[in-house]
Amino acid sequence: MRVENLIIGAGITGLSCAYHLEKLSKKYEKRNKHSSRCNYLILNNGREIGGLARSKEIGGFIFDYSAHLLHCKSSYFYNWLKENLGSEIVLHKRNAWIYSHGVFTKYPFQANLYGLPKNVVKECLEGLLNPDRLKKYEKNSFERWCYEKFGSGISKHFMLPYNRKFWTLDTKKLSDEWIDEFIPQPAIRDVLDGTFEYGHKEFGYHSKFFYPRKGGVEVFVKKLASFCRNIMLDEDVVAINIEEKWAETKKGKKFYYKNLISTVPLVQLKDLIVDMSRQIKGEFLKLRHISVINVNLGVKRKSISNKDWIYFPEDNYIFYRIGFPMNFAPTSTPREFSSIYIDISYSDWKFLEYNKEDLIEIVRADLIKIGIIDDVDEIPIVDINDIKYAYIVYDKKWAQSRGDIVGYLNKKSIYPAGRFGAWKYLSMEGCFLEGKRVAEHLISG
Ligand SMILES: Cc1cc2nc3c(=O)[nH]c(=O)nc-3n(C[C@H](O)[C@H](O)[C@H](O)COP(=O)(O)OP(=O)(O)OC[C@H]3O[C@@H](n4cnc5c(N)ncnc54)[C@H](O)[C@@H]3O)c2cc1C
Repeated sequence: MRVENLIIGAGITGLSCAYHLEKLSKKYEKRNKHSSRCNYLILNNGREIGGLARSKEIGGFIFDYSAHLLHCKSSYFYNWLKENLGSEIVLHKRNAWIYSHGVFTKYPFQANLYGLPKNVVKECLEGLLNPDRLKKYEKNSFERWCYEKFGSGISKHFMLPYNRKFWTLDTKKLSDEWIDEFIPQPAIRDVLDGTFEYGHKEFGYHSKFFYPRKGGVEVFVKKLASFCRNIMLDEDVVAINIEEKWAETKKGKKFYYKNLISTVPLVQLKDLIVDMSRQIKGEFLKLRHISVINVNLGVKRKSISNKDWIYFPEDNYIFYRIGFPMNFAPTSTPREFSSIYIDISYSDWKFLEYNKEDLIEIVRADLIKIGIIDDVDEIPIVDINDIKYAYIVYDKKWAQSRGDIVGYLNKKSIYPAGRFGAWKYLSMEGCFLEGKRVAEHLISG
């Protein structure tokens, strides 16, 4: 079979690329121009569309794979959601917290010291106001950036331990290329405002978010997919020949393409391409990612917390974040129950050495320690998801290796796209916009 644009993966990126090709095709049909350039076919290995942004129903609960909240930085994405999902989605104001030193403080830590022990507040303010704090840190490193922006106290009490726990990596090894979008940077005045009472200003990309009124994040994905006509499910791409320009699936079907859009994790793409140059293969080995074990629990007690989610920078809790879907998605949880999602990171260099039963016991004990649940609480629902590709690690090698790989593939008419496809820290909005960008690029020739 011959296809103009062969898209691998029906996650948000692949679907968005297809959706935008459909849209452009209508535009070109009217002008009688280039519309064949918009032809596409999506191949997806599983029977379900949505990739990581799927939802599942278990015993009356609806869970996502961890939380999947819809953030809008661009008016394009915001308008798309409003136009296509209208009253099916609800706008929420974030209610996020941090638990450290035995107390809850408002997110983000660096703008909300109120409530922390006095000696910690003092250390944080002293560090913030100390001008001489950069000399010993390597340039372009996350660690240096933290000291530069926040000083030693905030770095010591939140930025470094949280990021070390989350990335499972010495923060010296992280670069500063991913930060601007994700870490709020309050001015000194804002820090002071949030030191003596709860700060009123909201910071960061997720201070507001949309979430479907009913049915989990999948509602968004299903709407997007409803515009895409050409999707083949259960077609696992197992081989790609970049010189002859074909992809073959496990069932033995061969598809010849002009352009290949891959949302397959970049490090897996390496193993699918049968005729890749040896030299570039080595670059793939330098790419690193972390994985997440996501545990979803249904607890037999109402309203165990009023918070949306909580971050945990300290090592004496196994998770780096927990959250409560019932507070932003009330229909996801049966009445008289509560729901919790719990995220624990691990990696190829920091293993998680517990079996499922032990892990649940540790999680349960930690939740009791914090006072989220009691030891008598029943937990009738336990759902564990092992998310192998969860976050891309931006270390010192990321930019160069990724750039070389993408450059090489582009020359062969392969367009790696999406969070794992293009190996970038992208949100769902980022993936949606990436799909659009790739579609426009393909059409512009
Ligand atoms: C723990 C966690 C929490 C998150 N929370 C949020 C959040 O709150 N808000 C937010 O905006 N984003 C969040 N994200 C990010 C979001 O999930 C991703 O950005 C987005 O879903 C990635 O979409 P994608 O299409 O690029 O990739 P994927 O979702 O991975 O889709 C890729 C698709 O390709 C298919 N595929 C793979 N290999 C093959 C093959 N060989 N042949 C055929 N098909 C194949 C897969 O089955 C899948 O359907 C979170 C991510 C994680 C890990």
